[in-house]
Amino acid sequence: MLKSGSEHLEQLRDGRVVYIGSERVDDVTTHPAFRNAARTVAAIYDMKADPSNREAMSFEEDGDRHSIYFLRPKTREDLARRTRGHRMIADLSYGMFGRSPDHVASFVTGMSMKPEEIRKPCGFPENLVKYYFDIRSRDAYVVYAVLPPQAARNPEFYERKNLPIPALSVVREEADGLVVSGMKMLATGAVFANDIWIGNLLPLAPDQKKQSVTCAVPANAKGLTLWSRKPFERHCSSEFDSPLAWRYDESDSMVMCEEVKVPWERVFVHDDAVLSRDIYVKTPSHCFGNHQSNVRYWSKMGLLLGLCSKVAQSTGASEVPAVREMLGHMAAVESMIAGMVNGQIEAFERWPEGYVCFNRRMMYAALEWCTQNYSGFVDKLRELCGGGVFQMPADISVMQDPALAQQFITYFQTPQSSAIDRMKLFKLAWDLVGSEFAGRHLQYEKFYAGASFIVRNHSYRETPWDHYHGVVDRLMGSYDIPTKDSERKVA
Ligand SMILES: Cc1cc2nc3c(=O)[nH]c(=O)nc-3n(C[C@H](O)[C@H](O)[C@H](O)COP(=O)(O)OP(=O)(O)OC[C@H]3O[C@@H](n4cnc5c(N)ncnc54)[C@H](O)[C@@H]3O)c2cc1C
Repeated sequence: MLKSGSEHLEQLRDGRVVYIGSERVDDVTTHPAFRNAARTVAAIYDMKADPSNREAMSFEEDGDRHSIYFLRPKTREDLARRTRGHRMIADLSYGMFGRSPDHVASFVTGMSMKPEEIRKPCGFPENLVKYYFDIRSRDAYVVYAVLPPQAARNPEFYERKNLPIPALSVVREEADGLVVSGMKMLATGAVFANDIWIGNLLPLAPDQKKQSVTCAVPANAKGLTLWSRKPFERHCSSEFDSPLAWRYDESDSMVMCEEVKVPWERVFVHDDAVLSRDIYVKTPSHCFGNHQSNVRYWSKMGLLLGLCSKVAQSTGASEVPAVREMLGHMAAVESMIAGMVNGQIEAFERWPEGYVCFNRRMMYAALEWCTQNYSGFVDKLRELCGGGVFQMPADISVMQDPALAQQFITYFQTPQSSAIDRMKLFKLAWDLVGSEFAGRHLQYEKFYAGASFIVRNHSYRETPWDHYHGVVDRLMGSYDIPTKDSERKVA
């Protein structure tokens, strides 16, 4: 089934409990903090369901059509179809929606391709496969919270003070399911989602069994509340003044659970700390989800590159050799990520049995590159902007006063552009360089896949060290200690 945007919005009016500070949000689809981003999510669903995008955005199986990101690829072309689908979704928000509906769905799809890794008795592979078919047939939007809260990773502190450990844990087993309490970080997009996947992408200590629960819960589950960080959308004075925050603030929420019941069929791992992380990296799950992240980043780089060039044109600096060199660098950067994404398809792996996967090492290399370099790329745009981002009135309401408007139009025009066009461009640039929305994106791009040592550990794990040691051994094996009357040359 392919859901429409309005069907998805209707599903969000389900009594979910969302807080902004102490304010309880009644309806995320109409609330001024969330309504425009909710429409962006709806637009993704409408784009997928549009008959003109049928081949690009969906595939047929079991007599029904499904979103392309549920495709379990068997050929190189299947992988390329997945990538094109991610790209179309990413382009819809210019890469601003990191956890669009294709992100966690890709995790679940990848996992369903090797369910035997969800090892019994603590793993429930049948539940996972059923869940895959269920979210596929509902065209559900699933997000995830897969980290214990910061500072709660050391249980001794809480035990010493006789405090409850805040990290989400199983508190009780019942005949029909588990009961969980505690908090989990940080569910991007949760206020717009159908389900929240709870799990552990960071390794847990072997004795943290009760935290190892991996399950899916509806966003309106009884006892579950979403504590949103400050939403930026509601503080925008107009779309003109904050064009990205206005539409693309995908939200981030702490997931708070108090005695939330999870029926057994929605439990995938229970009581096994090691398994709760293995399920992502021993299946294509982590690779598929983060390939989506790479593609989304590529889309964002297109906006960043275009802005760099247009800002340079607008200040008149674009013909200065040093500025052209910087633009050349940014252009190279944009095509570098294009190469890294396409390389993952070209060098695909025939794994797991019966399926294919993006090249994992190349995917992790791209992930490392993306997370390490985003701030530097944004800084290039900052340099190109100079003080131009403040050479303007506070907001575009100036146009509502005829005298001020006249002054603005007269004095703020430049040889390159009208006052309004210039302000429009620089306001857009500011939403990537300096606004609160921009700051959140700097944080996001650095941390969405974990801190840098976590990301690098993935590359370490996937590297065939024996091969590289063999390269060194081959070379060293080709020479030996010189003999007495040998080749030893004296200078
Ligand atoms: C905007 C945003 C959106 C997010 N969305 C999601 C989401 O949708 N779902 C989700 O589950 N999570 C999400 N996250 C959480 C994200 O996965 C974590 O922020 C990330 O894994 C880093 O963990 P942390 O924030 O706890 O930082 P920490 O692990 O506490 O690290 C903080 C700093 O300390 C350093 N550090 C800590 N321990 C070590 C160590 N052992 N060795 C070396 N350095 C160390 C790190 O390098 C880092 O610089 C999001 C985060 C952000 C910022």
